[in-house]
Amino acid sequence: MVKLLSVVVSVYNEELALREFYQETGAVLKALPSSWDYELLFVNDGSADRSLEILRELARRDDRVRVVEFSRNFGHEAAMIAGIDYARGDGIVCMDADLQHPPECLLEIVEKFDQGYEVISMVRMKNKTAGLVKNITSAAFYKLINHLSDVKFEPNASDFFAVSKAAADVLRNNYREKVRFLRGYVQSVGFNRTTIQYEARPRFAGESKYSLRSLFRFSINTILCFSDMPLKLGIYSGCAVAVFGLLMMAYTIWTWAKYGTPSGYATIVVLMSFMFAMLFVIVGIIGEYIAILFSELKDRPIYIVKSTENMESEEKVTKS
Ligand code: UDP
Ligand code: MG
Repeated sequence: MVKLLSVVVSVYNEELALREFYQETGAVLKALPSSWDYELLFVNDGSADRSLEILRELARRDDRVRVVEFSRNFGHEAAMIAGIDYARGDGIVCMDADLQHPPECLLEIVEKFDQGYEVISMVRMKNKTAGLVKNITSAAFYKLINHLSDVKFEPNASDFFAVSKAAADVLRNNYREKVRFLRGYVQSVGFNRTTIQYEARPRFAGESKYSLRSLFRFSINTILCFSDMPLKLGIYSGCAVAVFGLLMMAYTIWTWAKYGTPSGYATIVVLMSFMFAMLFVIVGIIGEYIAILFSELKDRPIYIVKSTENMESEEKVTKS
């Protein structure tokens, strides 16, 4: 029986890279073993440039190219989850449109699927394209999140990964959170897991859509989604401050008994600033969790589809 490989590609203002991506990936996919057929599923995440036009043209010429178009920009994560929703494959690969994820890895991925692996994380060997700051912060982030969360995150795991139909079904049906970190879910679904090392290429054209600021936001959200440790911070720091307060009280009584003067105004100011700073941080952390609860409660769609190409609308596997 011929199996189907779905290559899911998120696209946001990639007009300069799309044709090259199609050419190169198409050439690799044509070299797949004969037991595999393929589809190229592009999710156009509200691009403002000519990306959609190019995708439509590709879809007209090649019926293996399928396109899902969002009504606006919903972000990379939403684009990937939509791709997984619409993909019909026995194996599904998510990759970027900028050719940073080398298409020739698809052959290795198919090999792993044939060996029976169901979740394949692509691990960046060395990220020469990212700056020093990005590399250091990324390493620190993975250290922290692995410390805080029960899920074991693969450092340098990228948004380049592959899942079997069974694992994709779990992602489709059970991970519909609004504040999301797909990479983390991929690593927490279990199944027969493996990794493949790859060397990231420089971006083919255009520039990265992730600023350092959005990466910071992303990291905070991940910690909030995968750990309730920050919430417990209040209890720990409360206890620490209580001990500190008791010691201060003993010291005050001691100086009072010895010198007849209780300690002064400066101590009070220092203590007050310290306590208030801590209180505000804890209130802020609680606020962050409430914001997540709130967005979950509103239950707005993760993405909205405006149109599709080469696709029957009822083909979608899950509703958002
Ligand atoms: N992308 C997207 N929606 C967005 C931002 C990015 O679909 O809002 C796509 C983008 O077209 C690319 C992939 O996500 O295919 C990764 O984005 P980018 O290359 O900018 O990130 P980086 O590789 O620098 O982390
Ligand atoms: Mg990129």
